Amino acid sequence: MDLEIIVRVGWALYTRCETILQVTAAHDEVKITCPTCGAVFVRNVEIDMLSCVCGWEVAWEAYHRTYHGRQHYAANAFDVFSGYARDFPKLSDPQFKMVAIDQLLHKFHLQLKETTLVIGRPAASNLIKGNLREVCAFLDALSSENPDLAGSQTAWRETFHRADWSENFPIHSGDENRRNRN
Ligand SMILES: [Zn+2]
Repeated sequence: MDLEIIVRVGWALYTRCETILQVTAAHDEVKITCPTCGAVFVRNVEIDMLSCVCGWEVAWEAYHRTYHGRQHYAANAFDVFSGYARDFPKLSDPQFKMVAIDQLLHKFHLQLKETTLVIGRPAASNLIKGNLREVCAFLDALSSENPDLAGSQTAWRETFHRADWSENFPIHSGDENRRNRN
């Protein structure tokens, strides 16, 4: 990846993470970020309107529709998105930027159920367009094409194959690896 692409992709992902964090705050904490002035205010759940001090107003239903069903809810990957949004702007070295992007895209939604770690969908399914099958194939290709990111593909495939749902989404080369190990 050349520098320009790293910077462009990195900031696009940053913007997407910010959106996810804002939507999650709106959903979980009734905290609304005004798209006009950036102020954060607490939604009055008794009324249907969202109103910011700057004059921006929208019906809650209309606001909800802007993100509903668009994978803007952080769910079990909140720390993944908030960590990237916190750290990426501080990175100046392109190599560190690329590693941060790679790590972000290769994280999973994780949930501890009693003592069992349940591996959910890739965090990337919130970040890039495409269905889960396409996202899995994209991630596998991304990590295999970049020699600077040696190890990330192996780690990603290992986690991927631990997920219950991964059997429905065979990764061609990953399955070869698995067959070779067996
Ligand atoms: Zn405002």
